[in-house]
Amino acid sequence: MSNLNELLELGLKFHGHKCPAMPMGLKAGLYAMEKLGVERAKDGQLQVILELDENHCATCFADGVQVATGCTFGKGNISKTGYGKWGLTLIDKKSKRAVRIVPKAEVMQKNKETEFMKMRKSGIPASQVPNEIVQPLFDMVSSAPFEMLFNASEVFVYDWVDKPHTFDTIVCNECGEMVVERNARVKQGKTVCISCSGYEK
Ligand SMILES: [Zn+2]
Ligand SMILES: [Zn+2]
Repeated sequence: MSNLNELLELGLKFHGHKCPAMPMGLKAGLYAMEKLGVERAKDGQLQVILELDENHCATCFADGVQVATGCTFGKGNISKTGYGKWGLTLIDKKSKRAVRIVPKAEVMQKNKETEFMKMRKSGIPASQVPNEIVQPLFDMVSSAPFEMLFNASEVFVYDWVDKPHTFDTIVCNECGEMVVERNARVKQGKTVCISCSGYEK
């Protein structure tokens, strides 16, 4: 699935609305893959580190990155640092190489001054912004050359070490639901899940 239009279509379906941040993330992911010469991750061979935080503008970026790279929150090969930035580091675990891609500030700034962002800021959901306002932004990001949108680092060495995935689970003695063993707690001699334990975590 390397065709840009196919990916954009998948991105739109997955993300749910049309906005400029999703294709920006998608293109950032593709640019990083091109720099490392890697294919979309079927399993966990790639790792993405995003610098986004929660509850700020343009977090939609993360969905585009997942669609392009195949690094997903479900597979667990993507994480966020919470810096409140749009930098993306893509790591190829096998070759131990990485690259950091970041949208140019002037591109992000220009985007902020658009009618789309003004409407979003005033509380209008992205899906309710008229198509004639959002489509040109979506198209601009989708068709612009990588070099126009992003700064890219040199490829550098990154020896990522995966944490082992546990397959150990137990059934909570109280609610009868399955829980990963290391997340279980002991309450009055009974092995229970966190929700039943009364502990915060
Ligand atoms: Zn969005
Ligand atoms: Zn329970």
